Amino acid sequence: MTQMWAAVIEGPGRLTVRAFDRAEPGPGEVLVRIEYCGICGTDLHGALEGWMPPGTIGGHEWSGRVAAVGPGVTQWSAGDLVVGGPPWCGECEWCRIGRPALCVADPMRGGGVGHSADIGGAFAEFHLATASSLHAVPDGLDLRVAALSEPLAVALHGITAAKLTSGPKGLRILVSGGGPLGQLVVAALRADGADDITVSEPAEPRRKQAALAGAHKVLAPDELPAVPALPTDARQDGFDVVFETSGVAAAVATGLGLLRPTGTLVLLGTGAMTVRLDAIRILLNELVVTGAYCYDANGIEAALDLLASGRLPVADLVCADDVSLDDLLATMIRLRAGDIPTKALVRP
Ligand SMILES: [Zn+2]
Ligand SMILES: [Zn+2]
Repeated sequence: MTQMWAAVIEGPGRLTVRAFDRAEPGPGEVLVRIEYCGICGTDLHGALEGWMPPGTIGGHEWSGRVAAVGPGVTQWSAGDLVVGGPPWCGECEWCRIGRPALCVADPMRGGGVGHSADIGGAFAEFHLATASSLHAVPDGLDLRVAALSEPLAVALHGITAAKLTSGPKGLRILVSGGGPLGQLVVAALRADGADDITVSEPAEPRRKQAALAGAHKVLAPDELPAVPALPTDARQDGFDVVFETSGVAAAVATGLGLLRPTGTLVLLGTGAMTVRLDAIRILLNELVVTGAYCYDANGIEAALDLLASGRLPVADLVCADDVSLDDLLATMIRLRAGDIPTKALVRP
């Protein structure tokens, strides 16, 4: 059997590159040669903090080339350029009402180990996917850029969750956290006409990147306006919408406290945190707090279209140096430390 290399989690902070037998695609499956795979915050939690069990191959933000198709697969053939998507069932209550991010069959819900938890993620030379979960890369879109479709779909879902009925133009918007996800939220909002985006981020290199992504103002968290001590005193000059992408508990509380009356806080950043939310502040000011997980029903296609449109500053959203599987762990540690301020891509 042909072999392939993959980066496997051995325990918290331990990752090795090992040879595996390359699987043959079964009925309804496609074997994809991975060209690029982005490193997600979830992968950092998974590999460095032990969120993912030993034996897991992480990586779910990938683009690649169809290498082989299994029996019964007619919609794809070898050489097709594809990105991954979630294998939502299409049949459960949530899929039927157009909220597939809540699909009861989604293996990602178990800890974000990749779209095919049973067969591993895409920090590997090859990846098995179900044929129906794949999306074609639009003509002319570079595979390197196409690998941003998954995290961009997450950003777009967060914007959908904010329910901006007349779009982001004219709204005072705070993006809390200037990491890769925050940068994508900024870029997507900007492409949609936002004209007043502030980013709050402690790391200077990320603040710089957030400005390149399109933020109008970038601040360190301690430069933000003060949160009114009394919940009765919501700031009239506060934010209409806060997108919290950092997953830091204090940032969630600050985001809530800086909303103007009727404002919306969208939680996008994952972190193992318990936050105390000021319930009376929410009540008195009729605030909305909502989570956003995964993507809209058409999220991956919408992200691919937006990437292909040329309306995003894609060169500023990705780290210029690609990473080999052997360098994955060291890169994860640098990402965690904030040494790499943008999305980094693995080239298995
Ligand atoms: Zn991700
Ligand atoms: Zn479902």
